[in-house]
Amino acid sequence: MTSDDHAAATTGPALPYNLPDISDAEIAAVVDVLRSGWLAPGERTRAFEAAFAAYCGVGHAVAVDSATAGMHLALVALGIGPGDEVITTPTTFAATVNVIIHAGATPVLADIRADDYCIDPQAIERALTPRTKAILPVHHAGSACDMDAIAAIARAHGLRVVGDAAHGVGTEAGGRSVGSLGDAAVFSFYPTKNVTSGRGGMLTTDDAALAERARLLALHGMSDDAWDRYTARGSWRYQVLAAGYNYAMSDYQAALGAAQFARIGEFQRTRRALAGRYSRRLGDLADVVLPAERAGTTHAWHLYVVRLRPERLTIGRDACIEQLRARGIGTSVHFIPIHHHPYYREAYGWAPGDFPVADAAFETMLSLPLYTRMTGHDVDRVCEAVADVVLAHRR
Ligand SMILES: *Cc1c(COP(=O)(O)O)cnc(C)c1O
Repeated sequence: MTSDDHAAATTGPALPYNLPDISDAEIAAVVDVLRSGWLAPGERTRAFEAAFAAYCGVGHAVAVDSATAGMHLALVALGIGPGDEVITTPTTFAATVNVIIHAGATPVLADIRADDYCIDPQAIERALTPRTKAILPVHHAGSACDMDAIAAIARAHGLRVVGDAAHGVGTEAGGRSVGSLGDAAVFSFYPTKNVTSGRGGMLTTDDAALAERARLLALHGMSDDAWDRYTARGSWRYQVLAAGYNYAMSDYQAALGAAQFARIGEFQRTRRALAGRYSRRLGDLADVVLPAERAGTTHAWHLYVVRLRPERLTIGRDACIEQLRARGIGTSVHFIPIHHHPYYREAYGWAPGDFPVADAAFETMLSLPLYTRMTGHDVDRVCEAVADVVLAHRR
């Protein structure tokens, strides 16, 4: 027996880090589209956009093939390109930085806040140059960035704000969805996110011209989209008005996404309950720092990120992850900082140590399983495993 087998035998079946929650309603919705004869972007995509825009309290939602595509579109549609700098966080997924590069602009990193891993407005101020054109804050784990402070900086310096709301379905600040803050925000429906369309994203904005430009660029720059062309009011004739992209969401994705989104209330209640249970069960464990909901915001609980206190423990984060794995508990880390990856180090001269708060967080952080198919018992199992590992390694 390996140690993994032993752990499985003593703790029950392994608890994966993440599982999508697909009900019969989603399956029926997708089968419906498959039988309908129309899989491409069409009326189901439009319906999903309308529902999502209403939820965010914005005038426009443009459904796209991924959050990556949506952020790229937002930057291009806002006219950001070569010679421009865009400030973002080191504690994010590669896509956040890659889209800045794909737009032809230069990414500039600003350090994070230690308590919720979101970009620090004071660090943004220090990163400003005459070439700064936009700020791309990431609502890390579903915790809202300080969008008031970021908006104030943007106003003072004439900058655009595009929110990376990949974790942000359900995130609010001041009672408003983060989809309604800044010039635009972009959500992800990747299978690991709070709502999934298999693959997909949504760009939200109150700026009609921006939405129209993004819509045009999302479908090759064509004057009329495919749906219009094939309906009774449409025609085969179209004009290409820009060198666009193939970024539009298809109806089979929208059917899945909309059916998932219809369950958003249930999803967010479950996530909040599971996160609350984690915080109660782990609350007495002085060796770990727990996530918190900032005053005046609603946390979407996309991730439950804890931090080890190295001054109290003889075990490091990597070994802790291994020991949890041996006990059948899957975990992850969000994220390996941008300035630690070979490509960006080479291209921008960054190195580990450049953003001390992000570096320190990375050394000690891990994300515990949090998804709607988990039970309270699953949370308890994770907490027992965490306590078990931590108590065996107290200084
Ligand atoms: C998942 C994720 C993305 C990318 O989303 P896709 O829909 O897969 O393109 C971008 N930023 C963050 C912070 C993410 O977690």
